[in-house]
Amino acid sequence: MKNKKKHIAILGSTGSIGTQALEVISEQSNFFEIEVLTANSNSNLLIQQAIEHKPNTVVIADEEKFQEVNDSLCPHNIKVYAGADALAQVVEMDTIDMVLTALVGYAGLRPTINAIKSKKNIALANKETLVVAGALITNLAKEFGVNILPVDSEHSALFQCLVGEVYNPIEKIYLTASGGPFRGMNREQLANVTRAQALKHPNWDMGAKITIDSASLMNKGLEVIEAKWLFGLAPEQIDVIVHPQSIIHSVVQFNDGSMKAQMGLPDMKLPIQYALAYPQRLNASFPRFNFMDYPNLTFEKPDTHTFQNLALAYDSMRKGGNSPCVLNAANEVVVDAFLKEKIGFLEMSDVVATCIEKATFVANPSYEDYVGSDLESRQIANDLIK
Ligand code: NDP
Repeated sequence: MKNKKKHIAILGSTGSIGTQALEVISEQSNFFEIEVLTANSNSNLLIQQAIEHKPNTVVIADEEKFQEVNDSLCPHNIKVYAGADALAQVVEMDTIDMVLTALVGYAGLRPTINAIKSKKNIALANKETLVVAGALITNLAKEFGVNILPVDSEHSALFQCLVGEVYNPIEKIYLTASGGPFRGMNREQLANVTRAQALKHPNWDMGAKITIDSASLMNKGLEVIEAKWLFGLAPEQIDVIVHPQSIIHSVVQFNDGSMKAQMGLPDMKLPIQYALAYPQRLNASFPRFNFMDYPNLTFEKPDTHTFQNLALAYDSMRKGGNSPCVLNAANEVVVDAFLKEKIGFLEMSDVVATCIEKATFVANPSYEDYVGSDLESRQIANDLIK
């Protein structure tokens, strides 16, 4: 029988996850078709991708790039829209089966909410959305009967370990962390690290924001909060273990003490494909793991004294309400400032901690509260950086 192809919208197609998703989809063209592509401002790559993959529609968030993109894609009968509102609305198209949220940061929140309300299953790479508004997103997903399929490699690993375990309680999970480029350094050494050093991740080639988050361990903090919402866990059920080889992608421990881990070479194409094709596993040509190349898999405790972001993320998860939203907004500001060389590496967590202290606490935030908290936290962070 011929498969009905899944029609995919990729939000953030010009990024690291977006371009790898396009490679997966090209290799699996019997199963998937591209319906929508979006970018922030990289018009050249968006045009090139659209000509190659022939989506129905593209959106460029930067409105100044509309004319250029439209002029290039009009002869190909591809519809072009621009601006943040268009990006949030495009996910509602009837012809879309699944939305891959591969855009970075808070900008993912509104399109994800709209996609869920339009009953589109979500392949979620944009972890910030769950960090900012986990309660809202998971409640909406339940209400509209939508699956949220994790793309993050750790959460994909946990999800794969949980297949077939619906009625079996999770005792705890271990999220693995590579430790990033500065593993083993003390605070004195970290005070002088540069942007260029922070952008060199030992195992993964990713976008700039998540690479800095990985170096500062904020990425692991965001993932802890993401795991809480995806798998309905209490904070004390979530543990982090440093595993520098990034071969074991995460571990679930069940109530009989049994532990299941998912492992493989560090390659985002696998979790991307698993989320897009779920519940099927598709044949793929990804490189295979060889035990003899990795005779030693090692594990360490994370150093939360030196890398305070991980502790801050746990604190904000325990505090709940809008606290993770405040943490995320502050972090987006400081990462941007660090990338622009306006602040040092250690100042990032200092600013985030002050934002959490100073921002107004909201115990049961509505969507509007999240928008307000995001703005307030950005304001506080920007004032501290000036
Ligand atoms: P990139 O920076 O490489 O790509 C981000 C994409 O989002 C680009 O297409 C970019 O467009 C677009 N974008 C950025 N800002 C906006 C905005 N304000 N409005 C609309 N579009 C925007 O990021 P990654 O691919 O590395 O990461 C994407 C998400 O996936 C993040 O949430 C990250 O945490 C998560 N993730 C990434 C992994 C990875 O291996 N890269 C692994 C696990 C999770 P343009 O190119 O025009 O700037």
